[in-house]
Amino acid sequence: MTASTTATHAHDPSAAAPDYVRSIAPYLPGKPVSELAREFGLAEADIVKLASNENPRGPSPAVRAAIAAATDSLSRYPDGNGFALKAALAQRLGVGAESIVLGNGSNDILELVTQAFLKPGDAAVYSRHAFAVYPLATQARGAHGIEVAAHEFGHDLAAMRRAITARTRIVFVANPNNPTGTWIAPDALESFIASVPPDVLVVLDEAYNEYLEPERVAPSPQWVGRYPQLVVSRTFSKAYGLAALRVGYGIMHPRVADMLNRVRQPFNVNALAQAAALAALADTDYVAQSRAINREGMQALEAGFRALGLSWVPSHANFLLVRVGDAGRVYQQLLRRGVIVRPVANYGLPEWLRVTVGLPEENRRFLAALAAALAA
Ligand SMILES: *Cc1c(COP(=O)(O)O)cnc(C)c1O
Repeated sequence: MTASTTATHAHDPSAAAPDYVRSIAPYLPGKPVSELAREFGLAEADIVKLASNENPRGPSPAVRAAIAAATDSLSRYPDGNGFALKAALAQRLGVGAESIVLGNGSNDILELVTQAFLKPGDAAVYSRHAFAVYPLATQARGAHGIEVAAHEFGHDLAAMRRAITARTRIVFVANPNNPTGTWIAPDALESFIASVPPDVLVVLDEAYNEYLEPERVAPSPQWVGRYPQLVVSRTFSKAYGLAALRVGYGIMHPRVADMLNRVRQPFNVNALAQAAALAALADTDYVAQSRAINREGMQALEAGFRALGLSWVPSHANFLLVRVGDAGRVYQQLLRRGVIVRPVANYGLPEWLRVTVGLPEENRRFLAALAAALAA
């Protein structure tokens, strides 16, 4: 390339992108451990990351073994229809395999629903303080997002129902919600779904389903048989400890699944992810243990917040939203002490931090760093 091709042309090549793409505010992920290590000259092993709601135990030993075994066939394309994983999920959930769509993370399912069902000028409804991907996926299609005020940090379902217009094609509901950890009881949720017009999809995002106490889990896969416009999304990224592999799934009417399958990449879920998810699904004890460890860690964090005089939002997931005042400052002070949490100003919560429940030692490190950060 010559100097003249780089230096003098002022034309901005991004101007050709549609306005609705140019105006998207990119997703802000949790800071990676490697980045903090570089910036502050810290050893990666000394950093505690409680920023992305991952299972601090990682995947189970059986899952690690399944991943290792699957490396034998890395030269082959994966099964683009995910036959074995879909069959196992269908059996576990009591639905037909044709009702399941696999995704490159459940984020992929959210994207695919918007790709298949939203066009420019349409609208999607979601709650304030709900998962950031709902507005992102909506805007990327040129559709209009209708954000509904929250009620005590959770979804105001009656207001969300009223916000549905003739242009609305999708309503997003997160249960439990991220970043607030709020939960909607099954009865209220089912009444809401039943009240939504049949030409509006309800996307019920259950990324933290496995962290719910069993008596709180909604029979949402069974609802799909009763409410054809319901799409339930779940993931292996959180309780199953497989965030890096990117695998999730949606449960939906076969005709809706057919639409998603038309727009997805033919090989959207890689082979290691499929093998790992299959093994993870079978390992029910590991998930139950993870839930118990989470419950104890949550109590330890709550006790720590109480001792520091901080308020928090009661959570049904594996993270807590805690009110610290100038959250940007406290976040920076925590970084200096090698602890990464998540600022949530972009969710309209500038005084709060979201912290993932870690292992007992990580929780202690975080609470000690928090006490120091608040006093700094
Ligand atoms: C983490 C999360 C997801 C997406 O996770 P994937 O890794 O893409 O499966 C979806 N919804 C909510 C509410 C989440 O917190």
